[in-house]
Amino acid sequence: MGEFDLIARYFKRPVRQAVLGVGDDCALMQPRPGTQMAISSDMLVSGRHFFADVNPRTLGHKSLAVNLSDLAACGARPLAFTLALSLPEVNEPWLAAFAEGLLALADAHGCELIGGDTTAGPLNICITVFGEVPVVNGRSQALLRSGAQAGDDIYVSGTLGDARLALNTLLGQIDLPPELLATARARLETPAPRVALGQALCGVATAAIDVSDGLLGDLGHILECSGMGACIEADTAIKLVASYPDSKRATGQFDLKISTEQWRSLALAGGDDYELLFTAPSAQRAAVAQAGQDSLTPVTRIGQIRAECGLQLVDSQGQTLPNHYASFDHFA
Ligand code: ADP
Ligand code: MG
Repeated sequence: MGEFDLIARYFKRPVRQAVLGVGDDCALMQPRPGTQMAISSDMLVSGRHFFADVNPRTLGHKSLAVNLSDLAACGARPLAFTLALSLPEVNEPWLAAFAEGLLALADAHGCELIGGDTTAGPLNICITVFGEVPVVNGRSQALLRSGAQAGDDIYVSGTLGDARLALNTLLGQIDLPPELLATARARLETPAPRVALGQALCGVATAAIDVSDGLLGDLGHILECSGMGACIEADTAIKLVASYPDSKRATGQFDLKISTEQWRSLALAGGDDYELLFTAPSAQRAAVAQAGQDSLTPVTRIGQIRAECGLQLVDSQGQTLPNHYASFDHFA
């Protein structure tokens, strides 16, 4: 099978919202009046972002999920995406499964594949997503990293650290019972981008980011862009690890050989969570709870923004904890 048959067979579909899709030199989209376009790219490299032998269906899902998560963090509604694919060979069962995982998530979010590029080479997947955010009275409703204000509450959606727990287990660094590995592995391989929550937070949250490199590292970006500091309750964050024995979701029957320090590290610096980390004034607590309910997404308050620069970590007694949690950095 050649390049063009491959594209036609696996990636060409009739367009619904775009003006023109796969098959010409450019795709065409018509922005709706009163909207701005939100655009983001993420690349997934074999051996770096995923194991070469990972299930292609989950790989297709995750490749788009990490991009949709960026749209979610801006409060954007997904519209379309392009797919640049480098493949070592034409493996049809692999392509069929990859396309199935990718397009199922795309359909679930009404985000259509409108173009891309296909070349031979090491397995590498680069997606660019396009979304829209409303402009109200001339003001963009996009959520930015730069809007956090002193006194704002800090929230995170969903769960933290389970993706990293699965990764560490697959790398042989932690011994996790198969029952717990299955749940944690789903968080690693098929994250659910918080698209509905992001849109519900427009006009409520003051700043937002998606947690891809680790909670504290990504919070650091909000603090830097907003010129603020923060205090985070480490032991509230720990309870958000779904596998943590004391968390509501976990079964306490397993004697996991994981120290409190390791749980903290998973929650605070795990990475690959694809949850939303956001800030909102305390006067908006009811609105934040409503946004969580409307989007069927759990949301937990984990700290507060401060005018003084720096990040303070405290335990459940309010005692300061040392902050030595390094988030992921490709070149560090
Ligand atoms: P060009 O040579 O003009 O860059 P290509 O031959 O690379 O065009 O691609 C032909 C058409 O197929 C284009 O519309 C392009 O957007 C689309 N396309 C190529 N690869 C993919 C892919 N992996 N997924 C979706 N569309 C693709
Ligand atoms: Mg091309």
